[in-house]
Amino acid sequence: MENLLVAENIYKRFGNFTALNNVSINIPRESIFGLLGPNGAGKTTLLRIINQITMPDEGKVYLDGKPLHPDDIAHIGYLPEERGLYKSMKVGEQALYLARLKGLSKAEAKERLQYWFKRLEIEGWWDKKIQELSKGMAQKVQFVITVLHSPKLLIFDEPFSGFDPVNANLIKDEILKLRDDGATILFSTHRMESVEELCDYIALIHKSNKLLDGKVSEIKKEYKANTFEVGLDALDESKLRLELEDRFQVGPARFKSIQNDLKLSIKLKENESSNDLIQFLLTRARINHFVEVIPSVNDIFIKTVTQNA
Ligand code: ADP
Ligand code: MG
Repeated sequence: MENLLVAENIYKRFGNFTALNNVSINIPRESIFGLLGPNGAGKTTLLRIINQITMPDEGKVYLDGKPLHPDDIAHIGYLPEERGLYKSMKVGEQALYLARLKGLSKAEAKERLQYWFKRLEIEGWWDKKIQELSKGMAQKVQFVITVLHSPKLLIFDEPFSGFDPVNANLIKDEILKLRDDGATILFSTHRMESVEELCDYIALIHKSNKLLDGKVSEIKKEYKANTFEVGLDALDESKLRLELEDRFQVGPARFKSIQNDLKLSIKLKENESSNDLIQFLLTRARINHFVEVIPSVNDIFIKTVTQNA
């Protein structure tokens, strides 16, 4: 069985409002799956259904090929969107308490907590009260508690919101490592631009509907347009530009560089390759920059939304 988790044809309505409209996702084992979409798209609702906090109106969720069962929560680590820790408890005390709830012995819980606190450089916080911590700090503690019992499925709802860039990067690296160590990860985010490198698979959710899903590399291949960005030095830039326009489909380029050169984006025909363009350029200019344009997930999202509108 290739997929650890399958959600099939999920519908969820709140009164007259449909929050999920026939949404299905498949999460391959030991992969990172990003559930992406703007605020209000339905991401949290789907994650709550997978965590059996909410029931779907229609549809089924399978873990390891079997319909989801209340006991399965032991195999799932869940970082909810609203981060709730008891404000007046001490960090260490609370972490131990929550770890015990997940079935770890006191000794084991302590050992693992010490390991993780050290890893995330929060050893000094053990005796602090939660209310003394900043939002980002409390979120680090909650991240540790989520992963502590080494569940095979980890679900993070907006794991990066509330973190500064340094800590967001640190959590990104931890998520990658958890995947490399064998966990399967599902996370949501409304910030499409910053996390696509993290995801092996994505699903784009917009207004309760899934617009697109699949392997990130495959999706990008499908959406790229045989277009290259070039930065060129030539004695006569306007002549070069005319020659290029004569031969290729030329447009303005979006990149910046330290060179004050001619920046263009050049679209090739379907049967042409980068070599055709390079060959053409070699005798006419010095090539400072030559990169294939790979659409970002955000570009793809905007294109898909526009197409579906
Ligand atoms: P996202 O996590 O993608 O930002 P949510 O899943 O939280 O979106 O919400 C999707 C939509 O469903 C929103 O319009 C939200 O207001 C609505 N919604 C979520 N939970 C409830 C609820 N318990 N009752 C009524 N509406 C809800
Ligand atoms: Mg949400």
